[in-house]
Amino acid sequence: MSATILDGNRTAAEIRAEVAEEIRTLSAAGLKPGLAVLLVGNNPASEIYVRGKVKSSEELGIYSEKHTPPTSSSTEELLQLVHDLNRRDEIDGILVQLPLPPQIDSKRVLTAVDPAKDVDGFHPMNVGLLSTQRPALVPCTPAGIMEILKRANIPVAGQEAVVVGRSDIVGKPTAMLLINGNATVTVCHSKTRDLPGVCRRADILVAALGRAGMITPAYVKPGATVIDVGTNQITTRADFDKFFQGNDQREQIFRRKGSTLIGDVDPEVAQVAGAITPVPGGVGPLTIVMLMANTVRAMKLRRASRKAELSRA
Ligand code: NDP
Repeated sequence: MSATILDGNRTAAEIRAEVAEEIRTLSAAGLKPGLAVLLVGNNPASEIYVRGKVKSSEELGIYSEKHTPPTSSSTEELLQLVHDLNRRDEIDGILVQLPLPPQIDSKRVLTAVDPAKDVDGFHPMNVGLLSTQRPALVPCTPAGIMEILKRANIPVAGQEAVVVGRSDIVGKPTAMLLINGNATVTVCHSKTRDLPGVCRRADILVAALGRAGMITPAYVKPGATVIDVGTNQITTRADFDKFFQGNDQREQIFRRKGSTLIGDVDPEVAQVAGAITPVPGGVGPLTIVMLMANTVRAMKLRRASRKAELSRA
């Protein structure tokens, strides 16, 4: 039996409509959320991501501006830019597109972002708030994963969840959200012994390791929910045939572009899992829409805290 496909495009469209409604309400009160994106240098993948983020903001009525300092920028120059954006009231969200060029101290730049404007949720203050169950701004991809589960009515409380990957951006915050949702959580990484055996315990398996199709049916308990975060490009015929032989739609894409996207999960897993996110069209579409949601949330949280300060004065 084939797994239920968890359609990320549909979930993202639902959330987008909700965010658009919130923005309309704010706009009726004369308020417009603002997002500043910092893109340093000419990384082609980053340029595509940033274009998508700016376009999405504009479509939703979020004011957005893009800053593109040269690749040769110094840490001090970026810090100055971040400080300027921190001070501007009409900017609610500041997003520093990663990776930054090697001469830049990325941690210093990310930590310089005002936690109240940290729409990526990477600032240690927001990490701490999440881990002490007072989430403020939560990283977009993990927040999107939880929305997929919630909106598909997949129970989290009491379930065995296994997260493969322990990055600060995906693995760790996803594990934290699942813990906060009362799942029993195991986090795996490259040193985990018997990875297939640990994964087979999962009712909810999150694959965020960045290894094309590595999670095969041998890693999956029949009926489990599988969330595939990976975004990997397949560029050789041998790899294509391994995963997609006989798939006409993929064949056309591969012939036209010379590559095709695959997650960390082998497509065969759909024969074992109970529900699965596709790649593309699964977790990916949620990441941008959660950024929009975070920008609106950042605006509301900042206004609320300002109101509280005024009432204390
Ligand atoms: P990182 O490279 O930062 O982290 C990968 C993690 O996977 C590490 O913890 C690593 O372990 C672990 N890992 C790697 N290989 C293995 C292995 N063979 N067995 C077990 N664990 C392994 O990646 P990210 O977290 O940033 O991203 C993960 C994937 O998600 C990537 O494909 C990325 O492109 C994708 N992504 C997709 C997004 C979306 O919107 N769809 C958004 C963000 C990321 P260790 O710590 O021991 O090195």
